[in-house]
Amino acid sequence: MQGVVLKKGKEVIFENRHLWIFSGAIASYPSCFQNGHIYPVYSVAGELLGSAYFNKGQSLAGRVVARGNEDPMQALFSRLDEAIALRDKLFEATTTNAYRLVNGEGDGVAGLVIDQYGEYLVVQSGSLGMDFLKEKIVEYLVSKKRWKGIFEKSVTSSRKEEKLPERVAILWGEDKEELEILENGFKFKVSWRKGQKTGFFLDQREMRSQVQTLSRGKRVLNVFSYSGGFSVYAMAGGAKGVDSLDISSQAIQWAKENQGLNGFVEGRFLEEDAFTFLAKDPLDYDMIILDPPAFAKKKQDLPQASKGYREINYQALSKMPKGSLLLTCSCSYHVGEELFQTLIFQAAKKAGRFVQVLSRHILAKDHPVNLFHPESHYLKSLFLYVS
Ligand code: SAH
Repeated sequence: MQGVVLKKGKEVIFENRHLWIFSGAIASYPSCFQNGHIYPVYSVAGELLGSAYFNKGQSLAGRVVARGNEDPMQALFSRLDEAIALRDKLFEATTTNAYRLVNGEGDGVAGLVIDQYGEYLVVQSGSLGMDFLKEKIVEYLVSKKRWKGIFEKSVTSSRKEEKLPERVAILWGEDKEELEILENGFKFKVSWRKGQKTGFFLDQREMRSQVQTLSRGKRVLNVFSYSGGFSVYAMAGGAKGVDSLDISSQAIQWAKENQGLNGFVEGRFLEEDAFTFLAKDPLDYDMIILDPPAFAKKKQDLPQASKGYREINYQALSKMPKGSLLLTCSCSYHVGEELFQTLIFQAAKKAGRFVQVLSRHILAKDHPVNLFHPESHYLKSLFLYVS
């Protein structure tokens, strides 16, 4: 058979519409096999299950591209169309023109993330197979005549596992170092090359709106502020003052610029380590936002990461005044919702505070979680009332 054959019972992967084929599920590769290419996938009984691309030496050896006898490229293009159609339903370009256009497995396109920043796209390929498909995908996107430039910023951890080099390049169209985007009517500068991820934390858009609705008259501390997304929304919501804190001088610079871009001049900008700041300073704020980087990048990091989450939340909870709000987040995939809530419970217990959950949130809607492949869910946030 000129395809990959799965072991007995492993056809369940396709039945359950999951997108990953681990090496242990594979009975045999075809004789002509080449890494990164797409092959039909069969059950032991010889039934065609679909097609997938493979990287043989990897534990995550295959990623599904199409089901049944769908043509792989046609299947891929139709998934892209569906992803684009969903975003067109979610957003009004006159107020929000920056969003995750394709959310990898979340949109049924394994190994590919595309973020839209106005008229520009930033593509992230996470695997060898996707590296091979990239050119055709770019051609397809160009044919839509919607964008002026398509860039690549493939720097994901999944690439490290496949020993693929990082790639930052212009794939098509005109280069543009600094992009200006609109999010809920607010303006932000985004540097796709120098910025973190593809340049902006699109996944927190909905929490930023919640902060806006709750910040009237409040003194707000935005810890791990990056380019000041939460700070701008808090100012717009009528905050009495906003302090933005980040360890990166570049992030602080962007936070200042973004605040100015939206007509807000007040506020302090603190270039400091959050752990040191939270431990030493009094925290006389009515609202604190804690949106740290992923403390657990891999499973083995969990003990150290748990300590980190407990520590920053304990410091905030023990020092915040009565009747204040804490928005606390974790973007570590390995810290599940239950564990995160447990860590916050431990912090609150140690701090001796009564704490209530006002709302919980996961990813913004342009980061849909695939019911059949829930692994793409990583972000969790709790809005807490501290008495
Ligand atoms: N809340 C932001 C995203 C935060 S990303 C938004 O909505 O856009 C995490 C940020 O934490 C990064 O900007 C990074 O520079 C910063 N950071 C990482 N470690 C830090 C530390 N120890 N102290 C302060 N900031 C830190």
